[in-house]
Amino acid sequence: MKIKDLLYSGEKTFSFEFFPPKNYSSILELGINIGQLMKLSPSFISVTYGAGGSTQDASFNLLDYINNKIGLVTMAHYTCVNATKEKVAQDMDYFKSIHIENLILLRGDRPQDDAGQNPGESDFNFASDLISFVAAQDRFCIAAAGYPEAHPESSSLETDIAHMKRKVESGADFVVTQLFFDNSYYFDFVERARKAGIDVPIVPGIMPITNFKQIKKFTQMCGAKIPANLVDTLDPYQDDLNKTYDIGVDFAIGQCRELLDNGAPGLHFYTLNKSRATVDIFSSIR
Ligand code: FAD
Repeated sequence: MKIKDLLYSGEKTFSFEFFPPKNYSSILELGINIGQLMKLSPSFISVTYGAGGSTQDASFNLLDYINNKIGLVTMAHYTCVNATKEKVAQDMDYFKSIHIENLILLRGDRPQDDAGQNPGESDFNFASDLISFVAAQDRFCIAAAGYPEAHPESSSLETDIAHMKRKVESGADFVVTQLFFDNSYYFDFVERARKAGIDVPIVPGIMPITNFKQIKKFTQMCGAKIPANLVDTLDPYQDDLNKTYDIGVDFAIGQCRELLDNGAPGLHFYTLNKSRATVDIFSSIR
């Protein structure tokens, strides 16, 4: 099934993102958590891909398993940093051979050498180059990434939205956003995107806070801001994971409700391969 068919019919999508596990215990943990999340009948599952293909085998194996053994609708993440056209064409054939119909096509983060330069060669400079290459085959439903607080390399949100428009014009059927905690960034982003002529669904990305120290690292990397009042509430409980969990899940429930009540076309959960928080949030909002 193509995810755009769900989104374009007006059905709200609920989706979960996983990354390929790195060792035996994380394989076991992922299996248990996918089992829990399956009970929620998600619209689709997505599987991340290490930039430069660093997790390729593990990502492809997990996709094949979820799509063909479990039978859930699956979306493959795929990045083009340092990729050649031959390599991408080969990988697209592979996706087709394992019946993957949905892709989120990304540039990926450029690896840097000691001088801060990207030493690799690539036939694709930006995600829009990859999207137009893959869309020309007309075989997949394609998603692209969006950044309500602007991509960290962008000079402004306006420029970033212009680049996002290029991704849509190149063939992206919908957008999934970077995680954010302040819904006003998402609502403003959608309004600006519509004014810029981007009319595809923009699905918000949600990351429940269950570990404050870990989330601070993530947000530093991706540029998402945690609202000051939430920081103040969480700060005294940095080492109390139970209390952090309760605060984080309560916050996410309110955030998700507000998004859905105000027209978000669905919710995409960054699960970090865990299920408890997503199950708790989901049970309260669906
Ligand atoms: P692009 O859209 O190419 O944008 C990158 C930067 O270049 C932006 O600043 C943009 O404004 C600018 N730009 C775009 N086009 C042009 C142009 N023509 N001229 C000048 N500047 C331009 N990373 C992974 O490695 N694996 C994953 O599985 C993964 N999944 C993700 C899923 C989601 C939903 C999101 C939001 C991000 C994900 N990422 C993943 C991270 C992503 O790879 C990085 O954020 C990366 O730095 C940018 O990727 P992009 O596809 O947004 O790039």
